[in-house]
Amino acid sequence: MAKKQTAGRDNLGKLAPKFAELNDDVLFGEVWSREKELSPRDRSMITIAALFSAGLYPQLKAHLSIGKDHGVTRQEAVEIVTQLAFYCGWPKAWSTFPLIQEVYGDEESDLDGVPSNLSVFPVGQKNDAYARYFIGQSYLAPLSTEQVPVYNVTFEPGCRNNWHIHHATRGGGQMLICVSGRGWYQEWGKEARALQPGDVVNIPAGVKHWHGAAADSWFQHLAIEVPGQDSRAEWLEPVDDEQYGKLT
Ligand code: MN
Repeated sequence: MAKKQTAGRDNLGKLAPKFAELNDDVLFGEVWSREKELSPRDRSMITIAALFSAGLYPQLKAHLSIGKDHGVTRQEAVEIVTQLAFYCGWPKAWSTFPLIQEVYGDEESDLDGVPSNLSVFPVGQKNDAYARYFIGQSYLAPLSTEQVPVYNVTFEPGCRNNWHIHHATRGGGQMLICVSGRGWYQEWGKEARALQPGDVVNIPAGVKHWHGAAADSWFQHLAIEVPGQDSRAEWLEPVDDEQYGKLT
């Protein structure tokens, strides 16, 4: 989702209220928010390129930061500058790398490339423990590990888990509460169900299913383990590309 902007009002609300309004409500509110036409990440990349080309460094730094929020990785920012150095001027690259350094910091983070404003819940860390049961990168954040276990699961675009079954001899199963982006849930032998924030999915124990992101959207759901007797997950075959590619 494009980040809501208040920079105009914050900085120029008194001096130039009309400009501030146009900046926040029209440029960001109406143009940047046209996410179907061009994603916030793509808009950030072209804006970074334009400001780099013009040598407008204070705005460039602000847009590197906005780009980071929109999922532009440090590596991608470096690559943009490396390519544009040939078209716009070598010294501009020298002036820009320190800005990338300031915006991204020194440390490569687990969460580089994850939009920072998906939802109010933490993204946690790369879901390495279950990576072999997923296609694409997912992230896991434990929200509650006592009483009822609740996890926030974040899927990058195209990421989904394999077919699987939550087994239990009594009770059990899983609930999903969607909190960000668009995704899919499918039970074996049934049509896939499109998911969006606010949707709730009740998955009974014993039902073969998968869940994950839409091909073109980050997706986040809370996963709630319904208490049960002898509960365990059985992981099965991946959702193949052809099957997944047909979802629209
Ligand atoms: Mn499940």
